[in-house]
Amino acid sequence: MAAVGDDCLFCRIVSGEIPAEVVAETEDAVAFRDLNPQAPVHVLVVPRLHVADAAELADRAPATVAALVGLGRQIAADAGHDSYRLLFNTGAAAGQTVFHAHLHVLAGRSMSWPPG
Ligand code: 5GP
Ligand code: ZN
Repeated sequence: MAAVGDDCLFCRIVSGEIPAEVVAETEDAVAFRDLNPQAPVHVLVVPRLHVADAAELADRAPATVAALVGLGRQIAADAGHDSYRLLFNTGAAAGQTVFHAHLHVLAGRSMSWPPG
C-alpha cells in the first residue's frame, strides 16, 4: 500500500503541514515550486487525492488529470511562457521518487530531447 497522509511528503505539503512555495490552488490540486528546480520555472502540480502515480490518477479521477494539465498551462502562461514541458515520472526506473502523483511543469529555458 502506498504511503498516505502522515507518511506521504506531498500529502503533508497539500495539508499545509510542511511548507512549500505555493503558486496556485484549486479544489482538486495544489501547485508549488520544486525544491530542486531544473529550469527557471519548475512547479509540481499535485492532486489533493493521494494516488501513487499518474496512471492511478487516470483510473481513479480522470478529470483531475485534465485539471492538472490545464493548471500546468496556466502556470507557464502566467510566467510568460508558451513553450513548456509537462511530465509525469512514473515508476522508480523512470525517475519517480515521491509516490504521490505529480505533474512537473518546466519552462524558461530551451530543452533537449531525449531526456536523460
Ligand atoms: P519525482 O522524482 O518523483 O518525479 O519528483 C519529485 C520532485 O519533488 C523532485 O523534483 C524533488 O526535487 C521534489 N521535492 C522533493 N522533496 C521536496 C520538498 O520537500 N519540497 C518541494 N517543494 N519539492 C520537493
Ligand atoms: Zn500523498
